Amino acid sequence: MKIKRRTVQFQPNTRNFFFHILTQCNLHCRHCYINPEQHGRQILDERTLAKWLAIFADNHQITKSPNNTNVIFLGGEPTLSPALPHGIKEARRLGYASITVDTNGYLFNDILDRVSPEDLDYFSFSLDGSHPEVNDFIRGEGVFDICTSGIRRALDKGFGVSLIFTASRMNINDLVNMPPLLTDLGVNRFFIQVIGIRGKSVRKGETSLQLNREEWEAVVPDVAGKAAEKGVHVTYPKVFLKPDETFACAGLVADNYFVFPNGRVYTCPLCEDYPIHSMEIVDGVLKERPPIRECDLFSLQIPEGCVLNKILHPGNISYDSDNRPVSRIACCMLKEEVLPVN
Ligand code: SF4
Ligand code: SF4
Repeated sequence: MKIKRRTVQFQPNTRNFFFHILTQCNLHCRHCYINPEQHGRQILDERTLAKWLAIFADNHQITKSPNNTNVIFLGGEPTLSPALPHGIKEARRLGYASITVDTNGYLFNDILDRVSPEDLDYFSFSLDGSHPEVNDFIRGEGVFDICTSGIRRALDKGFGVSLIFTASRMNINDLVNMPPLLTDLGVNRFFIQVIGIRGKSVRKGETSLQLNREEWEAVVPDVAGKAAEKGVHVTYPKVFLKPDETFACAGLVADNYFVFPNGRVYTCPLCEDYPIHSMEIVDGVLKERPPIRECDLFSLQIPEGCVLNKILHPGNISYDSDNRPVSRIACCMLKEEVLPVN
């Protein structure tokens, strides 16, 4: 099968609402980025889900995009919330362009029986290895079997299914084994994420888990191509920009909202461990916050590309003998796609 590679430029008329509806989770993954001290411990109830979904479905006072919003329900583990089915149906009723639930595969509260394939577009399962030895070292004993069985059950019931693999030094050598597993499972959408040094990783000082440019480029584009040749649609972060590629900050040119149970609203995921969120939801109303916020930093132009990466993860950047960055770091929201073409 032929394949096509492309960079997915930011769509100014598309809004993405990353809706963390709780921070609780049954697992303890080594790279978990959830940070209850910063994000709260509330479990949002049905009424709150509906109210907050309405905020981002409408033309609220802060942004002016038309109603072409994608919602991604996340946690913690979102299926732990008994309010999730109501949230999914409410998002459909409000006309969200697409609805995805990110899950660790445990599918609590009989979620597959409480919603139908018409109610949402995808269940996106997190799996960090092609077999239990790799996956369960990262995500916990027995998780591989439960997650892959959840994937098969969801597919059998006719749900759209995608799979997310978070690449780090713990599993990069196993990434090559994922395309055959995807084929075996019957999954045709695959997201490769790069480990973020946030949440638990940063608290444990696990910066050594991060991949450098050579490690990333030696493996990820090639595996993405192999998966696409098998008919899988693959998406992965661009991470490094070539000299002729333009840098753009999603915080300035895109419309992304990372919303947490305590009402914090970020527009840059790198900032989520710090109380510098741009907005917050107070008593059901979305409000801008006073400076200094993440958005006060986005317009700073630096030769290294992403300014928050330079502030928070300077170790990612290599310099030449003249102290110039070897390559600029792209916005973490900029993606590459590899698609099968008939
Ligand atoms: S499944 Fe997700 S939320 Fe739960 S521990 Fe793992 S990374 Fe964290
Ligand atoms: S990751 Fe960097 S470039 Fe992207 S929104 Fe955040 S600050 Fe902007």
